[in-house]
Amino acid sequence: DPTHEPEGLLRRTSKGYLPGPEGTERINATLLALVRNEELNGMLQAMNDLERTWNHKFNYPWTFFNDVPFTEEFKRRTSAATKAECHYEVIPDEHWVKPGWINEDLFQESVKMLKENDIQYADKLSYHQMCRWNSGMFYRHPALEHMQYYWRVEPKVHFFCDVDYDIFRYMQDNNKTYGFTITLYDAPQSIPTLWPETVKFLAEHPEHVHPNNAMDWLTDRVRRPEHNSKANGYSTCHFWSNFEIADLSLWRSKAYEDYFNHLDRAGGFFYERWGDAPVHSIALGLFEDKSRIHWFRDIGYQHIPFFNCPNSPKCKGCVTGRLTDGEAWLNREDCRPNWFKFVGMG
Ligand code: GDP
Ligand code: MN
Repeated sequence: DPTHEPEGLLRRTSKGYLPGPEGTERINATLLALVRNEELNGMLQAMNDLERTWNHKFNYPWTFFNDVPFTEEFKRRTSAATKAECHYEVIPDEHWVKPGWINEDLFQESVKMLKENDIQYADKLSYHQMCRWNSGMFYRHPALEHMQYYWRVEPKVHFFCDVDYDIFRYMQDNNKTYGFTITLYDAPQSIPTLWPETVKFLAEHPEHVHPNNAMDWLTDRVRRPEHNSKANGYSTCHFWSNFEIADLSLWRSKAYEDYFNHLDRAGGFFYERWGDAPVHSIALGLFEDKSRIHWFRDIGYQHIPFFNCPNSPKCKGCVTGRLTDGEAWLNREDCRPNWFKFVGMG
């Protein structure tokens, strides 16, 4: 419908990309949320933030995923929160259910050990399933078959800053494949064998390593040698994937397919509590050109208890320089300086 076109149009100006009359069409992209029916209010809050600060200018569609069907109320109220199209998708069992090669006794024993080490959610099967789905399954859903980019959004997250350019077009025009806001250290006890399995995988598949990789960021070899022992060689610093803007071709690549299958067979999504954040981050650090990874400093963001707050009048409610709304010790979890140092951002 041509009368609705200008909303999504963009024009290149000296200030970057602005919505404008003589631009081009929307990029092939979606906002993406895995969410439970019970999280409706949190989802509406996150949607309202992102619609207000950004998406009402571009109207990218929303795609919601759930392991059970969405309720009519969920569909009605989320659809009412945006002018853009909304799609509601059920995850097929074969993408969600614990795979047959996972030994139930070993899983139960492992859960006990993880709990003893205070690993949060370790005893929730659905949390393990969610991490596996976000790692290696979501992009296989038929609803995303023809999509190129996605922006992952979780219920209850906050967006603070007005952003006037088309984020997805920025990704495309600048040859970026992955965008993040926050990086954190992980609990080493949640991923003790993730790096050793990765090393095994690399011995079998050295061809997948990119010449311009971020291996030294993953191991933090240069900056803090003492961290090498943290999770058996991995610093545990990862892109915090509750915020994730990415090109789906990353995960559809041969390198990632081989890597995910190796990890999936190794069983650590269940015997340990491998998260999609360290899995995606290690894959990016090894198989992707590091110059294609972008820090969105201008997207003010919060997922409890961490922030990304730019110093800009365009941001409301985001305190510049504040990393966390919790106690100061949480600041130590923040490992953004590692990335900045690694890519030479001072
Ligand atoms: P945390 O951020 O690690 O504390 O984990 P969350 O509880 O926020 O879960 C991460 C994301 O997965 C959120 O978007 C949740 O809504 C979603 N999620 C987690 N478990 C399930 C589940 O069993 N079913 C569905 N549909 N979504 C889930
Ligand atoms: Mn969350």
